Amino acid sequence: MPAHVLAFHVMVTPETVSPGDIFLLQTAAGPYTSASAEFMGKTIKLHRTENNRLLAFVPVDVNTTPSKYNLLVNVGEDTFPSTVTVQSKEFETIHLTLPEGKVTLSPENQKRAADEAELLNNIWKLNNDKKWNGGFSKPLSTEISTEFGVKRIMNKKKTSVHRGMDFRGKEGTPVKSLNAGTVVLNKDLFYGGNTLIIDHGMGLYAVYMHLSEFRAAKGDKVAKGQTVGLVGMSGRATGPHLHLSVKLNGVSVNPESLFKLEL
Ligand SMILES: [Zn+2]
Repeated sequence: MPAHVLAFHVMVTPETVSPGDIFLLQTAAGPYTSASAEFMGKTIKLHRTENNRLLAFVPVDVNTTPSKYNLLVNVGEDTFPSTVTVQSKEFETIHLTLPEGKVTLSPENQKRAADEAELLNNIWKLNNDKKWNGGFSKPLSTEISTEFGVKRIMNKKKTSVHRGMDFRGKEGTPVKSLNAGTVVLNKDLFYGGNTLIIDHGMGLYAVYMHLSEFRAAKGDKVAKGQTVGLVGMSGRATGPHLHLSVKLNGVSVNPESLFKLEL
């Protein structure tokens, strides 16, 4: 899809998205030192890059109603209005059976899951400088077993939207970092099992779950394609696979839409 020129130097790619997607907003920095965008009631900071551009990734929540939405870019004294179209998308519904203790939580596990949710929410609040470089690549070359956005009915009663992407993988298969970044968490979590989180900067985080082993630790700077863990089935998993989540400004986005961006 061609990038759409909003004004003399503001671009949105792609200009039509599906619920759960990410889009890229960019402008030549010119004399401006800062810029921000307004989209769906949220303010998004644009980051300056090494080649003198200002850019931001913008998330579209999976529950967004298909429509045209206004996008305002504020650069210096100027405001550039435009729209982004969110098209409708059908998400599949699947049934799965899990150990009952992982679906109906004991009071201790409820407390643990709530504490861990808070720990993660505090991570998403950080919006650090750009660490990624060039396009984002897949962590495994295997096929996808469960796509992003699939509605799952667990043990015939509890429903949850799958806010990540599952890659098939044998236990012990090396998992690669999507891009350059810094490890901000490696911890055994109730749902995610051994979970590794990489901060790519600009509010973007990659979350790798159910690992059998970590190959990187909190504070490590990692390169694109570097092995950061091994496939496993720790936490709430029915078999060995990699669950990859991508969080942008606290919103879970479809990793596929990130892989498609030309950066
Ligand atoms: Zn998953």
